[in-house]
Amino acid sequence: MLKKITTLLPDFNCGNCGYSHCEDFAVSLINGKEEPDACPVLKRPAFAANKTSIEKLIQKRNRVTTHNNITITGVIDNYRADIVLKPLKNEKSCRETLLPLCSIDLKTGDVIKYRPLGCPITHIAKIVERQHSLITVVITGPDNDRNIENNAITDVGICMVLAFQGRYEGKILKVGETIRFLPHHCMMQKIHSGVVVQLEKENVRIEIIDLKVWGMPEVNTTTYVTY
Ligand code: SF4
Repeated sequence: MLKKITTLLPDFNCGNCGYSHCEDFAVSLINGKEEPDACPVLKRPAFAANKTSIEKLIQKRNRVTTHNNITITGVIDNYRADIVLKPLKNEKSCRETLLPLCSIDLKTGDVIKYRPLGCPITHIAKIVERQHSLITVVITGPDNDRNIENNAITDVGICMVLAFQGRYEGKILKVGETIRFLPHHCMMQKIHSGVVVQLEKENVRIEIIDLKVWGMPEVNTTTYVTY
């Protein structure tokens, strides 16, 4: 979805939407932080068809109604989730605790590039905590050429994602239960699963993260090929 929306944006990288690159604006469209009208270039007649296509694509975003009457649907596989996980106060994304599969010496404040095991998208993130071989990060963006050129980013390769931490919206949670959740920053808007291990008001920590969610999706979108 990120690639499709980025292709439909004007590619002027003019910054009038508040983002210096169209791709960053596309991420905020997917995450529901922005609407297409925030791009003045997209309102020009020449981009009318692109704007309509973008509006259709973002209609598929997760839908949240009220705290207790909630419908959260993953875009990529149409599973329903119990909660949406949003950033802790004053942070850019919910936190991920990672186990890097490399021996690079990392420290708090480092910016890293990694691909979560099981996810096709490379992430850029800042380390906010380090405990033994585990690092906790806040996502700063998807991978792109601009970021790759930046030497200050350490490429740590594949990481296992062990935990998520953030503010939740959705059903009332209980410690110990297994839930399905949608990280608000997830560039694929894919439903994850995990176990609730800590709850403090609206803040939750979820561990044993899995991208495989079992059971049938609410809307079956399977397509079959024959050769
Ligand atoms: S205002 Fe539109 S064209 Fe300019 S950077 Fe933002 S998305 Fe791109």
